[in-house]
Amino acid sequence: MDKEYDVIIIGGGPTGMAAGLYASRGRRKTLLMEKAVTGGQIATTSLVENYPGFPEGVDGYELGQMMEEQAKKYGTEVIEAEATALEFDGRYRIVKTTEGDVRAPVVIVTTGAEHRKLGVEGEARLTGYGVSYCATCDGAFFKDQVVAVIGGGDAALDEGLFLTRYASKVVVIHRRDQLRASMILQERAFATPNMEFIWYTVVEEIIGDKKVNSIRLKNVNTEQESILEVAGVFIYVGLVPNTAFLKGIVAIDNAGHAPVNLWMETKVPGLYVAGDARADAARQVVSAAGDGATAAIAADRYLNELQEELRREEVSVANRS
Ligand code: NAP
Repeated sequence: MDKEYDVIIIGGGPTGMAAGLYASRGRRKTLLMEKAVTGGQIATTSLVENYPGFPEGVDGYELGQMMEEQAKKYGTEVIEAEATALEFDGRYRIVKTTEGDVRAPVVIVTTGAEHRKLGVEGEARLTGYGVSYCATCDGAFFKDQVVAVIGGGDAALDEGLFLTRYASKVVVIHRRDQLRASMILQERAFATPNMEFIWYTVVEEIIGDKKVNSIRLKNVNTEQESILEVAGVFIYVGLVPNTAFLKGIVAIDNAGHAPVNLWMETKVPGLYVAGDARADAARQVVSAAGDGATAAIAADRYLNELQEELRREEVSVANRS
């Protein structure tokens, strides 16, 4: 890793990889850092069915790897590091990382989001012992057992449907009687014999000594409580954007997203936020990749303007001397 780049991208999901692809094809010296597995959320998705160009769907991990390969092919340097702080030095933005400091006139933040926690008793203690946020990673451990899926969005149904391959029964627990998930997933879920729904219900507690054996539920209309015996609990109650290190640098809305304009520009010149970390995003793989490309195109324009400004300054200094 060098110390100085044209473009630094923080986050290695589809947004970051697309930004890297566009920036490096624009012949900008580009560094992309990822703290965990490249691919972001899709790395733990078994089958991505809504990314154009793959009519049969594509394994999420493989798609992430292909995106990385493509970005690297044109020169994006990909490193494993976590960005811990962002500082400013004139035209440069300095990214402090677990591997040392790096600087560039442009920083594109594509840190995405992580799974929201339910925040109930037993959740933290039993994570890894029956509580999971990744069906693709842990589904096979629950062969012929009953599992609960919490939530009513795309992730709950997508991952719940994946779990029906292993579990004897998948019980989806949702706090309303209307699902938020796309219609195609709802149709599939309702047609799957070993998928059941409990409506108007929330989880109050996850119970188990060394591993999960049941959950305590509450009907939100009647307040009536019940116990459901399950071996696993898969939690999909939304996402929390990874924007903590941007606080105090750019505006962050109540949900933790950074507002940007249509070019992914923040109010800070040279600083872009794209993908799941930004406000008003569609939060799909295809729109995430589109965000990354948009940010890189805007950044390229910004770098051209900076270069022109520097050239004018040099000419004016030369004329004065
Ligand atoms: P989401 O769309 O925000 O859905 C979260 C679900 O959890 C909602 O049904 C919500 O209920 C419920 N919920 C939230 N807090 C809760 C709580 N404390 N207790 C109980 N339930 C709670 O989140 P997501 O499913 O993770 O999806 C996030 C984004 O990624 C979306 O834009 C989605 O389209 C996208 N995504 C797409 C796919 C796909 O296309 N196959 C797959 C995964 C994710 P309410 O409905 O009552 O608010």
